Amino acid sequence: MGQPVVVRGVGLHTGEPVVVRLHPAEGPVRFWVSGVELRPLASAVVETARCTALGRGSLRLLTVEHLLAALYIRGIWEGLVVEVSGPEIPILDGSAQEWLEALQGFPSRGPQPVSLSGSIRVEEGHSRVLAQPSEVFSVSATILFPHPKIGYQQVVSPPVALEELARARTFGFLEEVEALRARGLIRGASLENALVFNQYGYVNTPRMLFEPVYHKALDLLGDLYLAGRPYRGRFIAHRGSHRLHVELARLLQDLG
Ligand SMILES: [Zn+2]
Repeated sequence: MGQPVVVRGVGLHTGEPVVVRLHPAEGPVRFWVSGVELRPLASAVVETARCTALGRGSLRLLTVEHLLAALYIRGIWEGLVVEVSGPEIPILDGSAQEWLEALQGFPSRGPQPVSLSGSIRVEEGHSRVLAQPSEVFSVSATILFPHPKIGYQQVVSPPVALEELARARTFGFLEEVEALRARGLIRGASLENALVFNQYGYVNTPRMLFEPVYHKALDLLGDLYLAGRPYRGRFIAHRGSHRLHVELARLLQDLG
């Protein structure tokens, strides 16, 4: 194996420092955690509350979605082992920007995209996630939050570049912080790695107009990577969640 690319940071939920080594290696993209190999597949997902987590037995690897989104954007499905020193992929700046940079030296490799023969739809309450046949790949998202700075937002990519989605950070609400911390979540969250809202507006500065929905589309892309191969089609999340994204990825994985 060649020299690994090293990325250091803290986990959003665990708050623990973690080192990631990206190794060039033959075979499909996979994670190594504590000597255990985990494939980024919907069938290996064990949790979808607040982040997407892979696992096997008692082993967990949290918050894989932003790195997976970067792999999707770079077209990397083979030729990489991701060695992780702890139970969570680091949050870095809350976006997928640094992962895109870290993956720059890895060639785009993997199967050709497969066309969908029909539409797939999964839903729960007001949320739904769809895959529709199309010769052109696109990902789109809508969100609706009763907040003065969010409200209804929509993004479709393309025309918005996938790399632009990758710059959008995780977002959250100050009011939720206490409750999430009490549940042992977001111990590593800070104003450096999330766009944070209070009741009235922004606590820190957004990177772009509509950053929340851009990030939702990024999360969808990351979760779609769990289908195990690229698909040609239109992928749409209306008020999506990791749970629904992963359910769609599971149905796509079963097609493969
Ligand atoms: Zn996210």
